[in-house]
Amino acid sequence: MTTQLQIAQAGQVSDEVRFVAEAENIEAELVRAELAAGRLVIPANKLHLKTNLRPAGIGRLLTTKVNANIGTSSVRSSIEAEIEKMEIALAVGADAIMDLSTGGNLDRTREQLLARCPVPFGTVPIYQVIEGRDVEDIDNKMILDIVERQAAQGVDFFTIHAGVLKEHLPLLESRVAGIVSRGGALLAKWMLHNNRQNPFYEMFDDLCDILADCDICFSLGDGLRPGAIADATDQAQLAELRTLGELTQRAQEKGCQVMVEGPGHVPFDQIQYNMEIQQEVCRGAPFYVLGPLVTDIAPGYDHITSAIGATAAAFYGASFLCYVTPREHLGLPNAEDVRAGVVAAKIAAHAADVARGLKGAAEKDRRLSIARANLDWETHLAESIDPATAEKMHVEACREIGREKSFSADYCSMCGKAWCSVRINKEIREAIKRKDPAKV
Ligand code: SF4
Repeated sequence: MTTQLQIAQAGQVSDEVRFVAEAENIEAELVRAELAAGRLVIPANKLHLKTNLRPAGIGRLLTTKVNANIGTSSVRSSIEAEIEKMEIALAVGADAIMDLSTGGNLDRTREQLLARCPVPFGTVPIYQVIEGRDVEDIDNKMILDIVERQAAQGVDFFTIHAGVLKEHLPLLESRVAGIVSRGGALLAKWMLHNNRQNPFYEMFDDLCDILADCDICFSLGDGLRPGAIADATDQAQLAELRTLGELTQRAQEKGCQVMVEGPGHVPFDQIQYNMEIQQEVCRGAPFYVLGPLVTDIAPGYDHITSAIGATAAAFYGASFLCYVTPREHLGLPNAEDVRAGVVAAKIAAHAADVARGLKGAAEKDRRLSIARANLDWETHLAESIDPATAEKMHVEACREIGREKSFSADYCSMCGKAWCSVRINKEIREAIKRKDPAKV
């Protein structure tokens, strides 16, 4: 037995399953059973596990997880800048990191990031396959070599665009935005130029063997995801999804863990259907969604359009949210964009977990609310999703009201002392407790 899936299917509880169960405060046997059924994954390359990886689980049984994409581009590439982005993403709670680098020394960038990354780490191998060559020229050996090379570095999950097929391409004709996935667009170009089937699809069994060897999790890419809400849930997207369902089963039968990637740009009213159809077609395999963005008209604010869609997605079926930064569609994100994107996605994930009634989720809100009602600023700030930002704003407000010791403030600059309903409520409660309402 080589993979988490096979170990779980044999009825054994691995150390990684136990670790995930403890982190989520849930019974290990429940985690094992979901893993065995293909409804939960623990992306953990055996080589990364030997260094610094803390295993994390992804699936509906568990809290919703958030991924942060980082990576160089051909226009701007600095390993130090990417390390800084990763550290900021981790500091504000990213549960996974994807390195989407396309510029500079890709192997060195990946190696440096992985050495500092304690959470599941993913890549998109085709980006490196085309490095220094035209996409039309790539062949099967080049693909397998890069996948093997990245596997040996310890990558925990790979986006593999094996579901976009030659016969799907005519379905794109009526689209507004065509193919927006980089991997999908590159492979479509290759298929048209060579008049052949997607090489990732043709070599899928070989890829399964490589991934099973290190227990790398498939993240089956959605090369035809809609990039405009006008294209959402169209024939091309659904045809690829059906292929992803077939590939999910094939990979699982070879012992591989699988999650499936999903859209993209989807109007709010279509999100529930999109989540349910994926769960049905892929038999409950964890759904990893990019957004979805619920409108196209807010460049500069797409962390918000995405958080709205992600909340619904995580409520209706997704297990893993890929963050979107405010700079989406506009440029390569900087460290501040990464922080804003992760926080927005974490809020979406938590809001969905509360609505799903996940054990312990609403308790966090309760703790913060009690602290807020008691004007206990120290706990209020510490319990918040981004304590550093909350504290910065609180300290600024305290300066405005002339308070040196910010934690002792009994009102803030929003309403002023006489109008502070929280302070007044506190006095009312204390008076009622003393059975002396006249002294409020
Ligand atoms: S002043 Fe207003 S905003 Fe500030 S703590 Fe009191 S009620 Fe809340």
